[in-house]
Amino acid sequence: MIRLSKSVVGIDERDAVALVIDEGFLGMGKEVRLFETELQAYLKTDAEVICVNTGTSALHLALQALDIGVGDEVLVPSVTYVASFQAIAATGAKPVACDVLEDTALIDLIDAETRVTPATKAIMPVHYASNTAGMADVYQFAQRHKIRVVEDAAHSFGCRRDGALVGSVGDLVCFSFDGIKNITSGEGGAVVSSDPHVIARIQDARLLGVGKDTEKRYSNERSWEFDVTDQGWRYHMSNIMAAIGRAQLKKIEQFGSVRQRLAQRYKDQLAEVDEITLLDIDYTDTIPHIFPVRVTGIHRDILFNELNARGIQVGIHYAPNHLLSLFSTGQSLPVAERLGRELMSLPLHPDVSDDDQNRIVSEIKNIVTMT
Ligand SMILES: *Cc1c(COP(=O)(O)O)cnc(C)c1O
Repeated sequence: MIRLSKSVVGIDERDAVALVIDEGFLGMGKEVRLFETELQAYLKTDAEVICVNTGTSALHLALQALDIGVGDEVLVPSVTYVASFQAIAATGAKPVACDVLEDTALIDLIDAETRVTPATKAIMPVHYASNTAGMADVYQFAQRHKIRVVEDAAHSFGCRRDGALVGSVGDLVCFSFDGIKNITSGEGGAVVSSDPHVIARIQDARLLGVGKDTEKRYSNERSWEFDVTDQGWRYHMSNIMAAIGRAQLKKIEQFGSVRQRLAQRYKDQLAEVDEITLLDIDYTDTIPHIFPVRVTGIHRDILFNELNARGIQVGIHYAPNHLLSLFSTGQSLPVAERLGRELMSLPLHPDVSDDDQNRIVSEIKNIVTMT
């Protein structure tokens, strides 16, 4: 079976974890600080990097640090992982689902404009399939409406936008290092920000709101006398996760070039298949986390089931969130709903070989001519 996505880890990650176990300090400590400073150096930024236990908690803490909560609204594209919506809901705020652009599945700012109210406090653009196009417009939109930007950059670690690495510029940028993202720390996430107030709040909030505990933890200690002024969560990253993340960070260029090349090959080989419509993504500066296509010539589910039956695992990124019971408002978002029926993701990870890829493309061609 050819897997849709996969954690590509081995001896380096195993050795790194073994060292942490030998040291006997598994919680949040020096290793986490090293991962944060190495991420900061990689991004070539003065902005602070704060590591947490998941990408979802990165988004949650980023919003909380902006004082977003009950009564507030956050604009978010409907086509995203449910994590974006749940992170907004976790603050007590309302995720306001926006329609998306047909050729990229990125947030449609014309639709978003119609959903702005006095309660709108932030916009959460999602770098869908690692595509960071249109961010200049998102920032202009935010400036015009005097709202903040929390970038869901879960797909786009290692990507460049106008020459700068994602995270090195922007308001608040959130990454995920879960098992299948561009790099993994097992599970994990990070917030990048150069707003000192935001940074201090996130540092405390990830450790149950314990004031200034972060400094102690970095030297494998902890605070015994402290105050708590804000709601906090148990969201810190552990030394074990950080050790895996540090080993993976060294491989980002290697992973990136494989992912990029695979995406370009898919694009070239599928261009001639009439039943498939490719998304409009330029892979030059993009390290694709997923490779979604639109199945437009035949029923998506037929192709989906046939590929799975032939040992090729495919996925759906994503069914629109505004159709989920928790987030449904009864509104219709026509483009998101159409993409929800058409999108299908093909296997993409550094262990997909050229042979695998040739088989995937030829099976797609077989199935569409057969049906
Ligand atoms: C993976 C992902 C997240 C959340 O990351 P976790 O680390 O899995 O919590 C958020 N948004 C999107 C678009 C994602 O793909």
